[in-house]
Amino acid sequence: WDITNAVSRTLEDAQSGVEEMLFEPVIRLGVTGLSRAGKTVFITSLVANLLDRGRMPQLRAAAEGRILTAFLQPQPNDAVARFAFEDHLAALTGPEPYWPEGTRSISQLRLSLRVRPSGMLSGLRGPRTIHLDIVDYPGEWLLDLPLLEQSYGNWAAETIALARTDSRIEHARPWLDVLDTADGAAVLDEREAQRQAEAFRGYLRTAREAGLSAVAPGRFLMPGDLEGSPALTFAPLPEPVKSRGNSLHATFARRFDAYKRIVVKPFYRDHFAKIDRQIVLVDALGAINAGPQAVEDLRQAMAAILMSFRPGRNSWLSSVLGRRVEKILFAATKADHLHHSQHAALAAITEELLDDARRRADFRGAKTEAMSIAALRATIEETVRHDGAALDCVRGRLLDGGREVAMYAGDLPKDPGALLVPARQGAAKWLDAEYGIMKFAPPRVALAPDEGPPHIRLDRATEFLIGDRLA
Ligand code: GDP
Repeated sequence: WDITNAVSRTLEDAQSGVEEMLFEPVIRLGVTGLSRAGKTVFITSLVANLLDRGRMPQLRAAAEGRILTAFLQPQPNDAVARFAFEDHLAALTGPEPYWPEGTRSISQLRLSLRVRPSGMLSGLRGPRTIHLDIVDYPGEWLLDLPLLEQSYGNWAAETIALARTDSRIEHARPWLDVLDTADGAAVLDEREAQRQAEAFRGYLRTAREAGLSAVAPGRFLMPGDLEGSPALTFAPLPEPVKSRGNSLHATFARRFDAYKRIVVKPFYRDHFAKIDRQIVLVDALGAINAGPQAVEDLRQAMAAILMSFRPGRNSWLSSVLGRRVEKILFAATKADHLHHSQHAALAAITEELLDDARRRADFRGAKTEAMSIAALRATIEETVRHDGAALDCVRGRLLDGGREVAMYAGDLPKDPGALLVPARQGAAKWLDAEYGIMKFAPPRVALAPDEGPPHIRLDRATEFLIGDRLA
């Protein structure tokens, strides 16, 4: 049965592949990043700016006037939620704009572009339709890849050990107290199972709220439609001396395997494996603002996330990856919190933050780049005098209360090591620098023409990601 299934699937894939190449090419763009990195705002702004052109000068096809029309279409995948573009756009552009609800699960949107070819072929070929399938999914889900190689026993031991480290113990204590009362050898009692799972999830949530990023299993914080299912009702337990088949420990071990089988693998096989281009959004500024431990934690989480893009040769993942991700863009988001004179420093920090993973990886030949962007500019730039010196600030409307203020987030070092080295060494605070970020509301009116485009480098990001396919 399996083989027939596999063969018919391969045939189907091949067929749709040929159709795509001949007639209407499809670009599958994955958008990911940890919660609150800016995925929802990014996709909404990208689609709005492609639908309503003229504000993307760095996207060549747009600047050359070759995108004739852009329109939304029903996506081809009936089994995935549609990205709620209209709702999100209404939130951001209404008379009292507000930030939309962020990504909680996977969703998809198809934007189709009628594009006139460039260069020599333009006279020979008429315009053609190119479909951009945007796939939005939580970066937390990519933290699950290492679980595939782990047994329940290994995972539990590692997770408990990590919770006892300095940066985590404070958040983990309530869960560890509940864990201390667990009896893994006892016969399963579903209420006790829920109590353990809930306490464990509470720890992950508090750690996340404190700015820590490495919080697997990914679905515990981003459950999608699996909330409350047995596959999400387990937690780490130490190995009991003796364990029977119906014990709490044995049940959790089975559920851990079920989680891998029905949650992790289908996501990779059905969605991740089909992506051609990927943007990974990183709220580096948010982590810098939260302090060195958050930066170090973000670095580790990003290293874990990036493993999915360079799986080991003989791993399960490489066996299901059909097509290759051709380009990966790492984008530090919310750059509108900084004056442009600091944007290069933010991009450099982001690049260095990912460097460990990048250095070791060839990403299976994918082209990579790092930049700092703002999908939606909530500020304008302003230089104010402070203690006799000129200070390059940004001005925006505060999310809390709506007052207009000028903000100076702090001076990011030109050398990223000045932040990343103390973070690695476990510093509790930044030594001689202070960073503070205020939360701005989305802009109330479209920016005036002389105030620049309503985004920062969204067009350059788009050019890197899909520009070659629009040529
Ligand atoms: P998601 O969880 O990755 O989908 O993140 P969202 O797109 O919901 O963004 C999380 C929050 O970050 C938003 O509610 C905004 O407060 C902020 N944010 C996202 N993008 C921008 C941006 O371009 N500029 C500013 N100033 N804030 C942003």
